[in-house]
Amino acid sequence: MSKQYLCLDIGGTNTRIGVVSDGLGVTASAIESTPALARDGIGAGLQGLVASWAARVGAIDGVAVGVPATVDAACRTVLQAPNVTGLSGLALADLLDEVVDAAVLVEKDVNLLVLSDIHDLGIDPQTSVAGVYFGTGVGNALVLGGRVWHGAHGVAGELGHVPQLGRSERCGCGNVGCLECFGGGHHLASVMGQRYPETPIGQAFVRHADAPELQELLDAMAIAVATEANILDPQEVIVGGGLPLMEGFDREGFVERVRGFLRKPYPAQTLSLHYSRQGQLSGLIGGALRLARG
Ligand SMILES: [Zn+2]
Repeated sequence: MSKQYLCLDIGGTNTRIGVVSDGLGVTASAIESTPALARDGIGAGLQGLVASWAARVGAIDGVAVGVPATVDAACRTVLQAPNVTGLSGLALADLLDEVVDAAVLVEKDVNLLVLSDIHDLGIDPQTSVAGVYFGTGVGNALVLGGRVWHGAHGVAGELGHVPQLGRSERCGCGNVGCLECFGGGHHLASVMGQRYPETPIGQAFVRHADAPELQELLDAMAIAVATEANILDPQEVIVGGGLPLMEGFDREGFVERVRGFLRKPYPAQTLSLHYSRQGQLSGLIGGALRLARG
């Protein structure tokens, strides 16, 4: 009898929920508005959503919830979620335990995404992988020897919040000068709004790739990836998120930009950089992989 997992992928705008088999088939899925779920408190909203799906699905072998947030090392309590009201500090696994008869696991969203990417890209699941995701901010996931690396308190791999010398931008995390303040989509939107307000943001790299502001953004992104590769010397690096998927983003040029910042001869000579092919269901599939792997 195959297993089936109930998986959730919570974002600032939408929350995706679905049933995934241990063969990684998504047998049902739906999208809910996250602000609508949070109308009477995000905890109560998620309890109601999970309870209704659990009743409909029947036997469930585990629940995985991806959140745009840091999570404690036990994968049960959300620590800090800047983009979802009410999620910070929430004992989410305890709340879902009350409505479902299966083990519940909460993970930083990119920790699930990287597992999905490793599977999708055909990478050896026992290897060491650094995943760097350039969306609105800079997401980061570390898989060492096939296991998601959480750190002592659950907050390992916060590459986007590595402070940069001489910068004064205030980050959503509360600190000053974090890398994601000028290496992510939020910064791109701000630059485009100020310098090229007539250009739709989707055309930024098509029309203005050589502009100093965009070159600086690409350098910040490449420095982020190289920093992590220089520290960990992983077998594989995965780069994903919305920015590298934008029209006009020079993928080959970016690999060379990263290589320029890498320590010679290694890991520069052996850099193995893959681009994520993430789809809408990747977070759910990653949840099933995390549950199946234990
Ligand atoms: Zn920060």
